[in-house]
Amino acid sequence: MSHTQRPLEVACPQCRKKVVWSETNTYRPFCSERCRLLDLGAWADGTHRIAGEPAMDETEIDEMILRAERGRQDPE
Ligand SMILES: [Zn+2]
Repeated sequence: MSHTQRPLEVACPQCRKKVVWSETNTYRPFCSERCRLLDLGAWADGTHRIAGEPAMDETEIDEMILRAERGRQDPE
C-alpha cells in the first residue's frame, strides 16, 4: 500500500494557498485549521450572527479555534 505518487495539490478554498492533499493533512482541503474554521464561520454566519456585525477578526478566529479544540474532547 505504499505507492509513491506525486502528491495531489489543491488550492485552499479560503486563502487559495496550495495544499498537499494527504491523509496526514487533517485540514484538507484547507491549508490550516484557521482556514477551515473561517469556512465554518462563513456558513455559521447566517444563523448565529446578527446582520451588520463586522466580519470576524483575528481574535475571534483564535477563540473559535480554542472552542473547537475544547469541543473535540466532548463526547457528543
Ligand atoms: Zn488557507
